[in-house]
Amino acid sequence: MLQDNFGRQFHYLRLSITEMCNFRCNYCLPNGNECDTSKDNMTIDEIRTLVSAFARLGTSKIRITGGEPSLRKDLIEIISICKSTPGIEKVAMTTNAFRLKKDVQKYKDAGLDALNVSADSLDPRMFAAITGKDKLLDILAGVDAAVEAGIKHIKFNSVILKQHNFGGIEQFLEYLKTHPVTWRFIELMQTGDNAQFFAKNHVQGETIKQDLLAKGWQRVVREKHAGPAQEFSHPDYLGNLGLIMPYSKDFCSTCNRLRVSSSGKLHLCLFSEVGLNIRDTLTAGDVDATCDALRGHLTLKTASHELQKGFTGATKQLAMLGG
Ligand code: SAM
Ligand code: SF4
Repeated sequence: MLQDNFGRQFHYLRLSITEMCNFRCNYCLPNGNECDTSKDNMTIDEIRTLVSAFARLGTSKIRITGGEPSLRKDLIEIISICKSTPGIEKVAMTTNAFRLKKDVQKYKDAGLDALNVSADSLDPRMFAAITGKDKLLDILAGVDAAVEAGIKHIKFNSVILKQHNFGGIEQFLEYLKTHPVTWRFIELMQTGDNAQFFAKNHVQGETIKQDLLAKGWQRVVREKHAGPAQEFSHPDYLGNLGLIMPYSKDFCSTCNRLRVSSSGKLHLCLFSEVGLNIRDTLTAGDVDATCDALRGHLTLKTASHELQKGFTGATKQLAMLGG
C-alpha cells in the first residue's frame, strides 16, 4: 500500500490523459487552448504500465480526467485498460460531457463505473457565459443517456462563482428535489493564471455549508474511496449535495489521492511545485521500476498545500492536471 510520512494511504489515482480542452471556462481556460496539440501525452502502453504499477501498490480507484478526456480518440481503450487491470475496482471520469450523449454506451461497455459531469449553471445563458459554450441542454441530455446506459454513480460539479452562479444555488437545489444524483459545489481555487478572477469570485465554502445546515441538510458519513467532498442529504430531496472546500482547515488530512499528468509526471498534490518524472520507467514498460519510483517520490509529500497563503505551486490552471 502506498503510504506517506503522515500515515495517509493512497487508494485513488487521478489520471490526466490530455491537457487539451474545447471549453473556455472563465475560471480555468478563459482564452481556451484548442490549438495546443499536446503532443507529449502518455501512450496507451505507458498508461497500461502506470495503471499496473498503481494497482500493484494498492490503488483501487482511478479517475480519468484532463483537460477534456473525451477529446482523446483512444479514451475507450484507456477506460478498458484501467478496468481490466487486476486490483482496480472502480473507474470514474470527470468530463464536460460534450460527447456524453453520443459515446456513453461505449464508455459503459468498456467498464466505466462512475461519472462526474461539470455543469456550472442550470440556466442555459449563464452556462454559456461561464463555459463559452451554449451546450447545457446537450449536457443534460448526455446525463440522461448515462442513466439509461446504466451508469449508477453520476455526480455533477459546479464551481461556485460570486459574480456568476452564486445566485443560482436554489436552482441546483430544486433539481435535486426530483433527481437522485449528487450535486457538488466546488469552492473556487486560486491558480497561477486566475488571481484577479479569484479575488472577485471566491465564495467561502463554509458560508454555503452554514446556509445548507440552516435549511436542514445533514452530513453523510464518508467512505474509504470517497473523494474530497463533504456530503449532505435532506429528507425532502431525492439527490444529495457535496461541498468541496480546499481552503478548510482539515482538507489535506483526508487526502487519499495522487495525480499523474498527461505527460507522465507524478504530482503529489494539485498544488505542488513540480511534477516528478516517472516517464522513463513507463516508456520502458517496467512495472517494478515504476513501483519503486512511486514509493520513493511519495516520501516527499508534504502535510498540506499552502493555498491559504496564496501559494499555487506550478499549477497555472487545473486543465493542466485535472481537478
Ligand atoms: N474538463 C473536465 C471537466 O471540466 O469536468 C475535466 C477537467 S476539469 C479541470 C475538472 C474539474 O475541475 C471541473 O469540475 C472544473 O470545474 C474544476 N475546476 C477547474 N478549475 C478550477 C478552479 N480554479 N477551482 C475549482 N475548481 C476548478
Ligand atoms: Fe475545460 Fe474542464 Fe477547464 Fe472547463 S474546467 S475549461 S471544461 S478543463
